[in-house]
Amino acid sequence: MECRCQLQMMESNFLFNKRSFLIVGLHIAVVAVGIGAYLGFYRKNNNVLRIVQHPDPILRQISNRIDHIDNHIISLSNDMIATLRYRTMIDLVMKSSLPRGLAAPQVGILERLIVCGVNGVIKVMINPEILAREGVYSGKDDCMSVHDGDNKILKRSAYVKVKYKGLDNREKILIARNRNAALLEHEIDHLNGVLNIDYWAEGYALSPAAK
Ligand SMILES: [Zn+2]
Repeated sequence: MECRCQLQMMESNFLFNKRSFLIVGLHIAVVAVGIGAYLGFYRKNNNVLRIVQHPDPILRQISNRIDHIDNHIISLSNDMIATLRYRTMIDLVMKSSLPRGLAAPQVGILERLIVCGVNGVIKVMINPEILAREGVYSGKDDCMSVHDGDNKILKRSAYVKVKYKGLDNREKILIARNRNAALLEHEIDHLNGVLNIDYWAEGYALSPAAK
């Protein structure tokens, strides 16, 4: 009698577990379809740009200074912000680290323009220039255009002082530390045709900026 009771309990546990799996699976499927639908909707309503991949030679060229902030530059910066947000949403699901910056050459445009998520705000930076660097920061240096270096640690500066122009045509100064400093160095490197793999290729994991 006791054995039969135990058997029934095991059967009911098995059924319960099977049903739980089905319910959890159904929820995951609904969430996945929802995310897919939202991404499709977002992409349709924003000009999400294609990310150029290494070894495309455009990534190795030096970008041009921007003399006039015209409609082309404003539209490009809006599209780059939309692209950065889109990629962040995808990588939120697919990867552990999120993209925080995008440089114009990565979307095939050789202009000195970057967009960066710094302290929760996306900054549009025109003609960014590093005025001062200090210290060493070690961290992941992933890039949306180069995947050979994913999850590798690179040493960059722990402090940078950057001069740039905003879309309002005003000159600004940004002081960034640690991961934000490394992010700015990474994105500004793109404007000079430099990629994170160049530092590893030279046999050390320390960027010249941090030497
Ligand atoms: Zn990059």
